[in-house]
This record gives sequence, structure tokens and C-alpha cells, in this order.
Amino acid sequence: MIGVEKPDFQTILEEIERETQAEFGKGKVADYIPALARVSPRKFGMAICGVDGGEWVCGDAKEAFSIQSISKVFTLLLALDRLGSGLWKRVGREPSGSAFNSLVLLEAENGYPRNPFINAGALVVTDCIASHSVAPIRRLLTLIRKLSLNQTIVIDEEVALSEEQHGFKNAAIANFLKSHGNLNADVGVVLNTYFRQCAINMSCLDLARACLPFANKGVMPSSGEVVFPAIRARRVNSLLLTCGLYDGVGNFAFRVGIPAKSGVGGGIVGVVPGHLSVCVWSPELDELGNSLVGTAALELLTNKTSLSVF
Ligand code: GLU
Repeated sequence: MIGVEKPDFQTILEEIERETQAEFGKGKVADYIPALARVSPRKFGMAICGVDGGEWVCGDAKEAFSIQSISKVFTLLLALDRLGSGLWKRVGREPSGSAFNSLVLLEAENGYPRNPFINAGALVVTDCIASHSVAPIRRLLTLIRKLSLNQTIVIDEEVALSEEQHGFKNAAIANFLKSHGNLNADVGVVLNTYFRQCAINMSCLDLARACLPFANKGVMPSSGEVVFPAIRARRVNSLLLTCGLYDGVGNFAFRVGIPAKSGVGGGIVGVVPGHLSVCVWSPELDELGNSLVGTAALELLTNKTSLSVF
């Protein structure tokens, strides 16, 4: 873990920003949702929040972007609040080894998704909150705004609409889950909630702050408030490590070595238990849908600081 001396995170972030320049141009901005394809591929931001209260940023770290699948971390918290371990009757805890929106395993495994972070599992998680709350998105935004200390976080309605108009695969997955009895709410309600949760806009700093309790046994360092039990931080971190980057998760563990969650908006949020949370944003994705420059940046961070969990 960390050496005797605390790393100089500001200098490290600035080095990373310089050293990742050569990686730009190798990936591709997500274009399956037209509204996402308009984001500049050159954006780059990174934020680190320490459990001791320190915060460090570089580049576009304060610019809001589409969090997409990173939203699945927060809906999972709400579903666990609601159902506790009962959630695992409806969704598994194993890596999928397939694409984020794949239908293949779901068919073979009778509508029981492998984990809460692939789209099928996330739709089940969203169903858990949508079928128990009249205003699931309001609850989600309340949680996210509180965790990120930012009351101005909103949904990009253009992205939500765009996703709704092009979300054929997600609609197929949701209908498939429904046919197996693994969705309780109306399919349209679940999809609408899911598209809107994915279209929430947050900055790297917002996301790093919001995920800091995962590094701090469920406690928000800024207020000392316990926002979830320590065991939940441990459990969610284990799922992030094994399932947070789709079928790129093994390579990410090899290269970076921290629990993390990616989104096709180009964000990756990571957790170093006991130390810090980090978020990087760079919209060009690799062939598996994870930020290409973002992965390289996090690899540099853990190499420079020895802050890997391994
Ligand atoms: N909204 C995206 C989808 O469901 C999220 C995918 C992602 O970020 O990985 O297709």
C-alpha cells in the first residue's frame, strides 16, 4: 500500500494528464446513443478524494458528463436498502464475461442476470426501486446529491430521450426479464427509470465525492455520517472489482487493480479502500466500452502510488 510519505496527488494528476496525451485518438466515443456521440473526444478530467478530506483535481474534473452505467452503483445502494440480501434471489454476483448489453447468458440462465452491473442485472435493480417507490428518480437524485455534496445535479433530458428512442436492446432485455417473472413493475416504467438514471450528469469531482464512503466503511468523511453499513461498502467493492468493467474486468484488475465502475459516457470511478476514491473522464472508449484514456490514467495512478489493492 501507500509508502511512508503521502503521495503528492496534485503533481501526480498533472503528470498523468501529460503522460496520457499519446493515448488519445485510439478509442471511439460511444455513438449508439446519438446525444452521446456529440461529446468532444479530447475531454479529460480526473479527481481524487481522500478519506482524510483532501481533494485534488485536474483538467475537466469539474465539468458534468453523462454518468451512464456508473448510476448502477447508486441504484444498487437503494435496492440493498430496500431488499437487503433478498436482492440476490433476483440477481447474481458473478462476472458475466460478456458485453454489457448481451442477451446471450440471460437466455441460457433463465432470466437470472449474472450481476447488478450488466444491463440485465441493472434493470432488475431498477425494478426493485421502481416497484417500491412512486418517485424512484427523485429518491436516486436525493441520494446522489447528498453523497456528492452537490444539490445542482440533474438529468440530461436530451440524452434520456435519445436513449429511449434507440434503446432497442435494453427493451429486449427488459421484456425478456418480464417473461421470466424477474420484473415486477411495468416494462415501460422500468425502462424509463433506467434511461433517466443513466442520463444523470455529474463531474469527476461529484462522482469521486459520491463514492468516497466506499473507501471509508460507509462513512462520509465530510460530515461523519454513516450513509451505509461498513459491510455494504465491502460487499459493493467486491462486486465492483469482479463485475464493474464488464468483460474488461480481468484486464482492468491486472492493469489498475482497484474496485471500479465504468460508464459509456467515458467515466470510470474507482475506490481504494481505506484511502481514497478517484474518478476519471475521457469519452473515447475501447472495444469493450470502457474509457481507453481513463483506464491508462488509472493505471498510471496506481503505478505511481502503489495504491492498488493487490
Ligand atoms: N445507458 C447505457 C445502456 O444501457 C449504459 C451502458 C454503460 O454505460 O455501460 O446501454
